[in-house]
Amino acid sequence: MVYDLAIVGGGAAGLMAAAWITEQYKDSEARPAVVLLEKMPRPGRKVNITGKGRCNITNTRMWDEFGVHVHPNSQFLKNAFYGFSSSDVMDFFKALGLELVIERGQRVYPKSMRAMDVTDTLVRCIRDGGIVDLRADCPVLKIERKEDYQIICDGFELSARKVLIATGGLSYPSTGSSGDGYGFAKSLGHSIVQPRPSLTALQPEGYMDGSGLTGLGRSLNGLALKNVAMSLEVSGSVVQEEFGDADFTDGGIEGALGFRLSRRAVEALDNGQKVTVILDLKPALSESQLAQRIKRESSSGNNTLRYLLSRLLPKQMIPAFVNLNRELAQMAPGKAAERLPYALKQVRFKIVSYVGFERCVVTNGGVSLKEVSQKTMESKLSPGLFFAGELLDLDGDTGGYNLQIAFSTAVLAARSALL
Ligand SMILES: Cc1cc2nc3c(=O)[nH]c(=O)nc-3n(C[C@H](O)[C@H](O)[C@H](O)COP(=O)(O)OP(=O)(O)OC[C@H]3O[C@@H](n4cnc5c(N)ncnc54)[C@H](O)[C@@H]3O)c2cc1C
Repeated sequence: MVYDLAIVGGGAAGLMAAAWITEQYKDSEARPAVVLLEKMPRPGRKVNITGKGRCNITNTRMWDEFGVHVHPNSQFLKNAFYGFSSSDVMDFFKALGLELVIERGQRVYPKSMRAMDVTDTLVRCIRDGGIVDLRADCPVLKIERKEDYQIICDGFELSARKVLIATGGLSYPSTGSSGDGYGFAKSLGHSIVQPRPSLTALQPEGYMDGSGLTGLGRSLNGLALKNVAMSLEVSGSVVQEEFGDADFTDGGIEGALGFRLSRRAVEALDNGQKVTVILDLKPALSESQLAQRIKRESSSGNNTLRYLLSRLLPKQMIPAFVNLNRELAQMAPGKAAERLPYALKQVRFKIVSYVGFERCVVTNGGVSLKEVSQKTMESKLSPGLFFAGELLDLDGDTGGYNLQIAFSTAVLAARSALL
């Protein structure tokens, strides 16, 4: 038997492609023959850990606001997004019985707050529909192009007229996404843009060593800062500025701000450039406004650095701030108070490393977009070959953008493959 379509990879993109085909053809006489091959014993393992186990399915922002969160070429996604937008994703899940809620930042979650319900909804749709043959525990080892595509699995082979590769990137390889698709794509003539970890923790100098957290890391681990600003300095020039919340964890600087800076920071570190993160603890106040505030605080008669910091910073930040500004601590109180506004707006962390694929949220890089049609998701080099999801050189910020990328590209690929 020759399948009309073989989908390789049962993660967010592969499951959505299969569920969409099921819904599309359930009342049709002419049902396509489709197989979905998933390496792990159960599909959707990564989906199950998304959004801290709650799964931020998508984001309701309109394209103009949505697109700015997609890298490195949001235009590539535009057609796919309009074909299956965030509101289509929401309608799709609602029609399958999954209730949704919209939270802060226009992030959409299942009402149950259980990521597993998202996977279960898609798998149930596929299994009940009986159109797509879903085979788990079925790693694909090789894909060859002959008259049709030959998909070589462990102990058996199958043929398909079209193939959709949706094997994901390299982040959290324990979920099954270990980069196999790059090899398949390369063997079929495609170039791979260097994959790198993104949405990952940035590690400042003095934060940890081989055996765990050291002085700075121990003092900052667990600190969550709200409404601060962070800039990324590469080789002495500020290249990105962000405002929002930042977390310090056992991996380094993360949270929304750290993650947003990580894409460019990781690239720069890999290229051997000097990378610094500058934290502005008081972005709402200019240096002169801060100086006024410090003057008011000092009017009680106490102008020691410790006292002023206790009035201006979260308690946990103080030892780390002092540690990072030792010269300030050694100055006479009046002098230190004078220098404090600048120091509060310029906390500098030299970044020496980052958390790798084992714990990053997404992969930056992948199958080159230049070799894939944005109108169909079909390869420009190998007719009948399609790509979807994180395997492509396309990634989003945190906020539901990555799953939407997976869903939109998957539906466009499935629709085009079965035309
Ligand atoms: C901790 C964490 C939290 C996240 N939270 C969010 C979030 O809340 N919102 C959001 O939008 N994004 C989130 N993401 C990102 C999002 O999960 C991914 O971008 C998305 O899952 C990518 O979908 P995909 O189908 O391309 O790849 P995946 O979901 O990774 O699926 C790929 C599938 O292919 C299978 N596979 C691999 N190789 C083979 C092979 N040789 N043969 C057969 N099958 C194979 C894998 O086992 C896997 O099941 C998060 C990621 C992580 C790691």
